[in-house]
Amino acid sequence: MDITTYKNYIDGEWRDSISKKTFLDINPANKEEVIGYFQQSSVADVRKAIESAAQAFKEWRRYPPAKRAQTLSRALVLLKERKKNIARDLTLEEGKTLRESRAEVESAIKEMEFQIGEGRRIFGKSSPSEKEKVFSYTVRQPLGAVSILSPWNFPVNVPCRKLTPALVAGNTVVFKPASFTPLSGLRLVEMFVEAGIPKGVLNFVTGSGSEIGDEMVTNPSIKAVSFTGSTEIGLRINSVASQNMTKMQLEMGGKNPAVVLEDADLELAADDILLAAYSCSGQWCTSTSRAILVEKIANEFIDILIEKAKKIKVGDGLNPDITMGPLAGESQFKKVLDYIEIGREEGAKIIVGGKRMEGSGYDKGFFIEPTIFVDVNPEMRIAQEEIFGPVLSIIRVNSFEEALKVANGVKYGLSSSIYTKDVSKALRFVEDSEVGLTHLNLPTSYKEVHLPFGGIKSSGFGLPEAGETGIEFFTENKSVYINYG
Ligand code: NAP
Repeated sequence: MDITTYKNYIDGEWRDSISKKTFLDINPANKEEVIGYFQQSSVADVRKAIESAAQAFKEWRRYPPAKRAQTLSRALVLLKERKKNIARDLTLEEGKTLRESRAEVESAIKEMEFQIGEGRRIFGKSSPSEKEKVFSYTVRQPLGAVSILSPWNFPVNVPCRKLTPALVAGNTVVFKPASFTPLSGLRLVEMFVEAGIPKGVLNFVTGSGSEIGDEMVTNPSIKAVSFTGSTEIGLRINSVASQNMTKMQLEMGGKNPAVVLEDADLELAADDILLAAYSCSGQWCTSTSRAILVEKIANEFIDILIEKAKKIKVGDGLNPDITMGPLAGESQFKKVLDYIEIGREEGAKIIVGGKRMEGSGYDKGFFIEPTIFVDVNPEMRIAQEEIFGPVLSIIRVNSFEEALKVANGVKYGLSSSIYTKDVSKALRFVEDSEVGLTHLNLPTSYKEVHLPFGGIKSSGFGLPEAGETGIEFFTENKSVYINYG
């Protein structure tokens, strides 16, 4: 069977990388299945893409936002028309189940709808002047060429929520998808191209972040960086981009806690925790990775969790009966197995799962059993570090106060949940939980597109690109004074 070689998109043309080197995109449910070859771009390719974006900015910034929005709306129509195929490609290269892929595409549609609408709200402020016959006001202006670096775990949704506000606000873009999932990124770019995005406004380069990431971040023509990925790479971007004082926003990892108090609806809490722990094989930035249980309900709750966890069906995400797919790639697979070993060595006890899946249908893929650790001490590495896999650590506490302390006792601050009917404790949790989004009786993964989505502490830096802060991030203020006297 012929395997397609996909190209970069630079200055309005589909192009090979200058070196003509490529890399493989494979199916994590069956590593022998090659999805395509993608360009292994070098710094020289990235420079071409940045030059093209910087050049195109001169015109694109002058389009009225409503005109830019028209082009993006045509791309949105294509996304709606193609959602089934885009979801299928997503499952093939990332491994999540078809149901999860469809939900991701649906949420990408909502992100685009919202951000296209926001294009009509690029408001400044007018203000009374200190002087007579002087009119003063502010305008928001686009930044220039911006770099967009996205992760593999939401390869449709995250680029949509970055590209749309960047473009509608008048910026031009160099977009690099994660190397596990270049096809999903390419499908989005095809949509924008068919929608008539002018030459140079959107450029697409594939290749290794460790080779071309620095150029995307430090090239002086790049005026902002929007990154979603690990805290480790986010920290690196922060240190190199700040040398040029480049504007940046970094959405990074999490170690999200769900606290279950004695008066909680245990069925609801168990369903939510399992949903957020094992959807996308635990590879959501908002996955629940710590369940913090007060002693009084801990034994009963663990029994409910075990019963429900046993019903998870692991396998190829294209099979509609499957509820959890493989890990997204080999490095992910190895990292998660290493963490399971670390947990064992630290003295935590596995009560569900704990191994790679074996047997026919599993041997060629990166499948790991949904895993639950008990006897986890809050200081253990499995309770502190982002595992990013189907591993839930259960921590017992004696009180609400202790639960809150444990919940906050990590470097991350993305999302949290509490399950209780006690309004006072719920509101104290909301107030004191050190996160960017928090929930009462809802999973840690719950979000809506019109609210900002971003973390604090080591989970987020800069204004979130999602929600109403998107346009704010991708524009800057100019103050204007007009003497009409
Ligand atoms: P990652 O390894 O940090 O990579 C993210 C992106 O950055 C990829 O496109 C990657 O390219 C690129 N990159 C790698 N090295 C770079 C460098 N030196 N300079 C610039 N870019 C570089 O993260 P990931 O494994 O793809 O994604 C998983 C992580 O994302 C998890 O930590 C998860 O929590 C986080 N995440 C956070 C959010 C949020 O909103 N807070 C949402 C989703 C995911 P390559 O693929 O070629 O290496």
